[in-house]
Amino acid sequence: MMRSHVITHFSMPNIDLHSHSTISDGMLSPSRLLAHAAVRGVNVLALTDHDDIAGLSEASRSAQQENITLIRGVEISVTWHGRTLHILGLGINPEHPPLTEGLKKIRDGRMDRARAIAAQLDKFGIYGSFEGASAQAGTSRLIGRTHFARFLVSQGYAKNVKSVFKKYLVKGKPGHVSHVWVSLDEAIGWIRGSGGQAVIAHPARYKLSNDLLEQLLCEFRELGGAGIEVVSSSHTPEQTRQFAALATRMNLCASCGSDYHGPGESYFDLGRLPALPPECTPIWNEWEIPDYAETGATTLNEQSEQTGLQSPGKSV
Ligand code: AMP
Ligand code: MN
Ligand code: MN
Ligand code: MN
Repeated sequence: MMRSHVITHFSMPNIDLHSHSTISDGMLSPSRLLAHAAVRGVNVLALTDHDDIAGLSEASRSAQQENITLIRGVEISVTWHGRTLHILGLGINPEHPPLTEGLKKIRDGRMDRARAIAAQLDKFGIYGSFEGASAQAGTSRLIGRTHFARFLVSQGYAKNVKSVFKKYLVKGKPGHVSHVWVSLDEAIGWIRGSGGQAVIAHPARYKLSNDLLEQLLCEFRELGGAGIEVVSSSHTPEQTRQFAALATRMNLCASCGSDYHGPGESYFDLGRLPALPPECTPIWNEWEIPDYAETGATTLNEQSEQTGLQSPGKSV
């Protein structure tokens, strides 16, 4: 960055660009999520529910009350070379028909997958899981593995969500069903078509070889992808450094997000993220965001200059 003035204050806006509500598999309603974000000192929050944007209007109303800048987001499930990837859309227009229709198609597919997961669990002697997961999903318009996980925990099959995934819901386990989501091309197309920026969520989670990762980033960029999530609760400090370097080399922006799902189910609470490594170009560089300096934060453009500074609280 080419700013020449000296920074005289060292707090920064608190930015978290990945979170979930009860609209998908989070535990807090959109308004409770925003209230929690305010308590945690978050200034800029993206609500990025899986495959649905139905929480954005409530979130937007609450964000105004809480003096938080809401970034309208979504996390889209994608299949790329037989693997599931999650692509975040940030700054989307929730009224864009190709996006809303595409997400509806994914949710319908989720319903079929949920029935298939339940049929698998039936064979394993675990009955009623479709109804159980639906009850966990509550008013959400989709069923995810997390809802199955919470049901299985409630029935005593494991002590927590993390261990129930390991025992029942991942590849090679009784409740696993392989599923084909939408293509990378479609997801990026919907996001960009609605005015948003596409970001690869938690890239270390996919465990791609270096070659495949390079191929993904090249394809993603050619399709108009904007950035990768460098700071994530799924990343170790080493992975954060690795993806910061990769983003810089590939000319992609960097994003940061807690992937908050609710109390007790997330490694990072809202508002407790380490700063982006200084070489990164933040995805928010060109966003118009109010100056939160008066509430103890500097302007957004100054953040990337604050080498080595961390947000308050714990780091990775
Ligand atoms: P789905 O999109 O329905 O396949 O579910 C994916 C969601 O399950 C993720 O967004 C996480 O919320 C959750 N999840 C995936 N793997 C795990 C895991 N190992 N432990 C806990 N939660 C997980
Ligand atoms: Mn989730
Ligand atoms: Mn994800
Ligand atoms: Mn997520």
